[in-house]
Formats: sequence, structure tokens, C-alpha cells
Amino acid sequence: MAKLDDLLEDLVTANHVLAKLGIVDSFGHISIRHPDRPDRFFLSCSRAPERVKRDDILEFNLDCEVIDARGKQLYTERPIHGGAYQARPDVMCVIHNHSPGVIPYGITGHKMRPVMHMCATIGHEVPIWDQHTKFGDTDLLVRTMAQGHDLAKKLGKGGTCLMRGHGCVVAGPYMRRTVYTAIYLELNAKLQMQAEAMSKKVKFLTKGETKKVAETTSPANVNRAWENWCRSVDRPYKE
Ligand code: MN
Repeated sequence: MAKLDDLLEDLVTANHVLAKLGIVDSFGHISIRHPDRPDRFFLSCSRAPERVKRDDILEFNLDCEVIDARGKQLYTERPIHGGAYQARPDVMCVIHNHSPGVIPYGITGHKMRPVMHMCATIGHEVPIWDQHTKFGDTDLLVRTMAQGHDLAKKLGKGGTCLMRGHGCVVAGPYMRRTVYTAIYLELNAKLQMQAEAMSKKVKFLTKGETKKVAETTSPANVNRAWENWCRSVDRPYKE
């Protein structure tokens, strides 16, 4: 799976999977760090993820400047990706989306916590970044590297961060696991809302449980889901 061509095909698949499962709609994006050049990353040109093809994938440096645009339009919010890659050498994939379930947690201050084992990779604490705190009234898009750096600071050492009035960012050690976390972040949001509508005494995963599940979530576990997701969007699966 280390071959660049395979990784880029996987990135196309990930775009389709995230769209199919409602994590992205016409907006939102996913990038991967270049496996051989840590100072570069790959991201589609400005296109709805469901429509992304291999030819749409472009290469960027970590300041989010495109290496060769080939006449294509670029996503505005590239600094979300560049900011995370600069701050975190361990991060190999970044996803930004506006999936509906996470939005209420970003605007109410009501804390999101893992409600079941499949959701443990979201982390025990899910921080919230408020662009207004440092940048005042904006259009809420992450347009500058200063904003990208500030968001990465709030992401900290974790894998998820909500963005107030906007969406979230998910960062991970490899692409398939990062897709998995983005999908289960949305599921956690929905389940937590249901549980808290039923009871004020919801029992969340403990910090220790969250850590143990996250540690034992292996590439083999993730691949079981990945194969299934590949088939569901008619894309080839490679282990
Ligand atoms: Mn956005």
C-alpha cells in the first residue's frame, strides 16, 4: 500500500466514501501527506468530493501553494490542511467537513464525548475552535495560514477538533483510519444527542477505555470497514 499511485487512488476512493456516507456533501475535503516528501500534501482541486477523479488530485507545499494547478480551481480552505501538517509531523491525513450532527456541539458548548467503543478514536476530549476569538467577524472560512495555524493549535495532539458555526477537522496517522474517525465522529454526535434526550445521566466511555480502544483499533479492523466502503462506491479494494 505504500506506492504513491495506490495512495492517490485510495484518496479518490476516500472522497467518494465520505460523500456516500454523508460526511461531506458538495463541500468538505480530504488530503494526504506525500509519503516520500513530508513537506508536500495531496488534495483535490475545487470539486464536490463525490465527483473527484484521479486527475483532479493536485500537489501542494505546506504553505498550501499549489505545485502545478494545471488550470484548475483550488479549494479556499487549504490552510486547514497545511496548518495541521506543519504543526503535526505524525499527521498523514486531514479531513475537513460540515457533517450535520457535529454542528450543535460546536455552538452550544455542550461537550462531545465517546458514547461507544467504535467512536473511541474521536478522543476523550473533542476541543472546539472559535475563529471569532482571534479573528473577529469573518466569513468563517479558514482562508489564511494564520487561521490554519490557530486551528492546528486548538487541535493540539488530538485527532479531532470542532469549528464553531462551521464544522470540524479530523487528523490521523494514516488515511483509512482518519476516514473511519470522521465517520464515527458523526455517528457519535447523533447517538449522544439521542442518549441525552433520553437521560441526563449518560455513561460515556471513560478516559482509560477511550485510550484502550483507540490503541487496539488496528489497520486490520479499519480495513474490514474500508473494503466494505470501497465496494459500496464501486471502487477497487487493495489491502
Ligand atoms: Mn468549511
